Amino acid sequence: MTDAPPLNGRPAIRRSDPTTTPVPLVFDSPHSGTDYPPDFGFVAPLQTLRSAEDTHVDRLFAAAPDNGATLLAALFPRSYIDVNRDLRDIDPELLDAAWPGTAKPGPKSKLGIGLIRRLAQPNVPVYDRKLTVAEVRARIENCYLPYHDELARIVDALHARFGVVWHINCHSMASRGSAMTEDGPVERPDFVLGDRDGTTCGPIFTDLVAHRLREMGYAVKINDPYKGAEIVRRYADPPARRQSLQIEINRKLYMDERTREPNAGFDKLQADMSRLIGFLAGYARAALA
Ligand SMILES: [Zn+2]
Repeated sequence: MTDAPPLNGRPAIRRSDPTTTPVPLVFDSPHSGTDYPPDFGFVAPLQTLRSAEDTHVDRLFAAAPDNGATLLAALFPRSYIDVNRDLRDIDPELLDAAWPGTAKPGPKSKLGIGLIRRLAQPNVPVYDRKLTVAEVRARIENCYLPYHDELARIVDALHARFGVVWHINCHSMASRGSAMTEDGPVERPDFVLGDRDGTTCGPIFTDLVAHRLREMGYAVKINDPYKGAEIVRRYADPPARRQSLQIEINRKLYMDERTREPNAGFDKLQADMSRLIGFLAGYARAALA
């Protein structure tokens, strides 16, 4: 396990390498970080800001290394900077000066949840100030780029060695949407798999994961409401045998959404995710044989 590089003297990411014969299978958890940096400077209540976290998702997939897979997790919080956004998805309203690079605020910035969040929840601003260009740059350099550099290194090395790589981008979702989400205030299923409408992995892989989860008794939707975002887009190239799938887990299955503590369902869900990892590692081994 390696923690690197420093963020205010603390690690920004955690990489856990296989503890057994490696398989070309990678899990990444970009939103489970809970280490709020001292220079964050937010005014929203911490509990509200934390609703952006996919708290504990890295723990749900902790069995990856013992199955030959690699696990990467962000340690900084998603609300500090979101590695699942395009680097250009910067909201100019957040800054005290013009962004010197290319700013291309998309629909997520308009919802207040771009690269750097403007809103912690609907009508709850994260800041009472403008951010400086220097502090946004520091977040990119200390968090965004190290995360993507490490994930690219892992995916590329496995692809170079095995000629194929399967990547699962792991998230969790609130049990209900809100005015700040694309689906609005509706109840969500147990799992949502996203392959950007079949463009980030082949339907065989998506259906395999969906089928395995349904066998475990879970309700699964595909590309509705979450299709996958920057991370699966960036690492996928199905014709080159690079498959990326986003997985969203309903938080009510494993935690109290108010206190963010694991609930009574945590151990069962973690055991089920360990079984899913074992199944996918077996699938990868069989495909290579
Ligand atoms: Zn997420």
